[in-house]
Amino acid sequence: MSQARPAHPGPRHWAHYIGGRFEEAGERFPLVHPVDGTVLGTVPEADAGTVDRAVRAARAALDGPWGAATVEERCRVLRRVADGMAARFEEFVAAEVADTGKPAALAREVDIPRGIANFRAYADLVWGRPERSFATPTPDGAGALNYTVRRPLGVVAVVSPWNLPLLLLTWKVAPALAAGNTVVAKPSELTPSTATLLAEVMDAAGVPAGVFNLVHGFGENSAGAHLTAHPGVDAIAFTGESRTGTAIMHAAAARLAPVSFELGGKNPALVFADADFEQAVEGTVRSVFTNAGQVCLCTERVYVERSVFGDFVDALAERARGLRLGGPYDGATEMGPLISAEHRDKVLGYYRMAEQQGATVHAGGGLPPFGDARDRGFFVEPTVLTGLPEDARPVREEIFGPVCHIAPFDDEAEALRLANDSPYGLAATVWTTSLSRAHRVAPRLRTGIAWVNCWNLRDLRTPFGGVKASGIGREGGEHSLDFFSEPLNVCVKL
Ligand code: NAD
Repeated sequence: MSQARPAHPGPRHWAHYIGGRFEEAGERFPLVHPVDGTVLGTVPEADAGTVDRAVRAARAALDGPWGAATVEERCRVLRRVADGMAARFEEFVAAEVADTGKPAALAREVDIPRGIANFRAYADLVWGRPERSFATPTPDGAGALNYTVRRPLGVVAVVSPWNLPLLLLTWKVAPALAAGNTVVAKPSELTPSTATLLAEVMDAAGVPAGVFNLVHGFGENSAGAHLTAHPGVDAIAFTGESRTGTAIMHAAAARLAPVSFELGGKNPALVFADADFEQAVEGTVRSVFTNAGQVCLCTERVYVERSVFGDFVDALAERARGLRLGGPYDGATEMGPLISAEHRDKVLGYYRMAEQQGATVHAGGGLPPFGDARDRGFFVEPTVLTGLPEDARPVREEIFGPVCHIAPFDDEAEALRLANDSPYGLAATVWTTSLSRAHRVAPRLRTGIAWVNCWNLRDLRTPFGGVKASGIGREGGEHSLDFFSEPLNVCVKL
């Protein structure tokens, strides 16, 4: 098994980026490589004073050239940032892999290209955005012209998680900048590297000082809480756990700051007997085990029509048992480790709980029996369960690991009831070859996204987000630009 590290394992210095300057103020905390538990380096933690300076820098930049920049000028800057990222593509891959342990192929095919695409897409979208106007009749017959301009919100806080670090950070930073805001970003404490490289790219691309600021640190009682509670922050865009969303909403409520939340999921897949069986199995392997199940969109509940239930469980379990676990630079690796020892223990806790509550374990269920260097990493086995009641905690709660529970259903109505009976509502997948069934079922799912015969097929122009505990608002395309700006209506009497 080749474990060769690339030439650039990430930024050499993890630093805050405030008002166009890199600085390393604060206590330092260790950054751990999930593949073998080694410490990659130490990262500075921003205290309240450092966060305050970042917010002030962002405020000052609004009053500077960025506030006066035309849409065309902002688009040019976004495209220069995208070009700068593309020029350092392999460094971004190496940094993402160092922090997350994910297969390098995944970072190369998904994380980094999408990070770059976010800047290009929002440059295109904001440039081509239509504005509406109305010719309004008036009693004197002369009329009036109403037109609406979109103005930035001001200083936006972006707080992001560790599972797709660059992709999810840029998914908010790019539209926020496209709409003319300035940003203070706080990436996850577990994955600070690609955000630091992004700050280097912004700097080199000539993004004016204070337009993009970066602070590192933890969430609670640390940089995240200082930032989201800061009175100088005009809006908060957050991706992460639902209960963190609750804490951030409390902080935002004090000053009525708008929030856009992309939160947890417990996503269902519905497999009908008329599905293309192979396609449904392969699609579910992807939707359960991609990134070791650490994607908010991953499937954790699978419901299968009873006539194909047994065959489906056997086929999925066989594929799960055959998945190759390994290091990011081993070309044979299909699944990497979990992000941290703490998260591994949480996932293993759910595996144990499921067994104690009477689940049948068809694949996995514990630590992989490697007996080699991989034992130092935070790996768990891909796991397939059946036999739990719908109210069991492993079926209701988000585990965020490579695991699913499979249960049978008898008809469409029951499938929909089971899928919708969840505190979450992010995404669902429907596997069927019946066109009528697809159109009957998909619109009745209580989720923000419904995929039919596919999973995680994304078009950046479409609305993205969840209902219930899975989020507030939508991002993607014009939905992001709507959140990150507010309309000002101008009425001119003619
Ligand atoms: P998390 O909520 O623990 O942390 C996310 C970010 O919030 C981190 O930067 C963290 O430091 C910060 N944070 C934590 N507590 C905070 C507080 N009190 N105040 C301010 N900031 C705080 O989430 P995570 O473990 O990093 O990520 C996994 C979670 O993210 C899962 O629940 C997953 O479903 C969710 N997620 C959702 C989406 C989506 O689009 N809906 C996408 C990816 C991940």
